[in-house]
Amino acid sequence: MSLYCFGNVRTERQRAEMERLEAAGVCLFCPEGLAASPGQQVLLATEHWSVTPNEFPYPGTSLHLLLVPRLHATGLLELPGPALADFWVALRAVVESQGITHYGLGVRNGDCRFTGATISHVHAHLLVGEEDDPGAPPVRMRFSSRPADR
Ligand SMILES: [Zn+2]
Repeated sequence: MSLYCFGNVRTERQRAEMERLEAAGVCLFCPEGLAASPGQQVLLATEHWSVTPNEFPYPGTSLHLLLVPRLHATGLLELPGPALADFWVALRAVVESQGITHYGLGVRNGDCRFTGATISHVHAHLLVGEEDDPGAPPVRMRFSSRPADR
């Protein structure tokens, strides 16, 4: 399985960044990838998770954060128990520290060619819908894709 799923790219800038990382063999969400990416500032970290803003936020969000495990895994259930349990610690810490009162959570698990994800390293999306802009679209997250090259 490759690190990135180019069929699910949403913007050309995102594609260019993914091509650069794929060529370098760098997983953006592994600790060394996160540390080397200026666009992925770590807002908060627990023993097993880092929280970073999505560099390419979904339309309609006022806040779009990603919870990323330190271990490279393609699905949540590949993580060992302590890392799984620590997810809730990280979620509570970010919700409380950011004063978040409403949000959605979304996680795609498994082969990113089929889940709509752009990267194979599992991560949770914390999505806060825009409150103040009446023209903001509802926040939508895609959970499936079908590779054209099958
Ligand atoms: Zn990784």
